[in-house]
Amino acid sequence: MTVLQERYREVSDRIGKLVLQAGRKPHSVSLIAVSKTFPSDGIREVYAAGQRDFGENYIQEWYGKTEELADLPDIVWHVIGDVQSNKTKFVAERAHWVHTVCRLKTARRLSEQRPSSMPPLQVCIEVNIGGEAVKHGVAPEEAVALAVEVAKLPNIVVRGLMCVAKANSSETELKTQFQTMQKLLADLNAAGVKADVLSMGMSDDMPAAIECGATHVRIGSAIFGKRGRLECVQ
Ligand SMILES: *Cc1c(COP(=O)(O)O)cnc(C)c1O
Repeated sequence: MTVLQERYREVSDRIGKLVLQAGRKPHSVSLIAVSKTFPSDGIREVYAAGQRDFGENYIQEWYGKTEELADLPDIVWHVIGDVQSNKTKFVAERAHWVHTVCRLKTARRLSEQRPSSMPPLQVCIEVNIGGEAVKHGVAPEEAVALAVEVAKLPNIVVRGLMCVAKANSSETELKTQFQTMQKLLADLNAAGVKADVLSMGMSDDMPAAIECGATHVRIGSAIFGKRGRLECVQ
């Protein structure tokens, strides 16, 4: 086993344990391996160990990887970074998921540009749960209304909500944020949008997220190692 494959196994095992500790059903949390800034070879290694879901932030970098990895037909691409208007076409044509929808305009473009030969694009609405100016995402009180509008678009299916917790939060603060997400998901269902995904939890805050109902954790550095360049400021 390579170092990456070992770390991948460790992370998978850890998720399994945290799910049990939280009294949740086995396999109720999916791992998205966040490969941003790491080369395609690393993705191949982790893929060979059994992982299929990969997350990428930077559209241009990701698009190059979709070309390099075109021989892996069952890889599932999750876009987890900001999608600027001029990049929606790439995303609509190659992504399986977009976790970071926070504008109706972007969602409209994604829906219009989604090829009819492909299944609907699965999206999450990104919520700026910590209210930080530097973060993307819609304000918590606007999330349900936006999701309801996005859900009306023909080539998109709203799967749920996504957040990045506020930087340097204490354990208590993390739980407050993740519990608010849980409540927003319930509100969204009450508003008539059947959605079951909570995309939350990263290498450093995964335990709290799993305890608070995360269904998808996005794990980068715990698998691929520390990132040098292009550090994410999302
Ligand atoms: C980079 C990134 C991750 C992974 O973060 P780690 O701390 O490396 O696990 C998850 N989600 C988003 C949106 C990211 O940008």
